[in-house]
Amino acid sequence: MKDNIIRYREMCAAEQHDMLQKGMNFRLNPQYSVLLMSQRTNAPYKDAIHPDGITIEYEGHDLPRSQQIRDPKTVDQPRFTRGGKPTENGKFADAVDQYKKDPTKCEIVRMYEKVFDGVWSEKGFFKLIDYKIVNDGTRKVFRFILEEVEVSFEHKKVEITLGKERSRIIPSSVKKEVWARDGGKCVMCGSTDELHFDHDLPYSKGGTSITAANVRILCARHNLQKSAKIE
Ligand SMILES: [Zn+2]
Repeated sequence: MKDNIIRYREMCAAEQHDMLQKGMNFRLNPQYSVLLMSQRTNAPYKDAIHPDGITIEYEGHDLPRSQQIRDPKTVDQPRFTRGGKPTENGKFADAVDQYKKDPTKCEIVRMYEKVFDGVWSEKGFFKLIDYKIVNDGTRKVFRFILEEVEVSFEHKKVEITLGKERSRIIPSSVKKEVWARDGGKCVMCGSTDELHFDHDLPYSKGGTSITAANVRILCARHNLQKSAKIE
């Protein structure tokens, strides 16, 4: 569920994988790809959220460190391996190229972000709509453009719809800030189970998610109580 707070193991279990280690996992299963956002704490998040609140940019991945490449941050991000096969960047870029030729073939991506060591949050499902190769000042990097969608996986078919009530994406930096402020607990009862990030005032009623002030941690029980009150 979007904006829930889960342990690393729960995230792996949800994706039926023993260990999710790579950030980019093209077609992790037949229906969708998985992207993990887990920047080091001192690095700025690269998930630039566009002003529409539903489109984000995800920076591609560097070559692994090796004897030839001491610092992967100093070399261009490649689309192909030395052997000429697509890297993960290349696979996602190929999917965009295919989508542009045939809009019925779009790649669905599920995104998770690291909030704290071992603690993750689901960012939601996205449609991979574009990519660009930009110079970040020192080298060329891939930037993938993803638009938030709602998906259902019924009858072995993927149904994609734009969210009816589009909730704004909560930036990773805000989730980190809220996690620290609320101490990783429900603000109502102190529970540490079944938590998620809650928009205090819903986006549909004018609330925002771009500052921590309108976001808090609630457990499942208190979230249910809250939605009962709103209805
Ligand atoms: Zn609670």
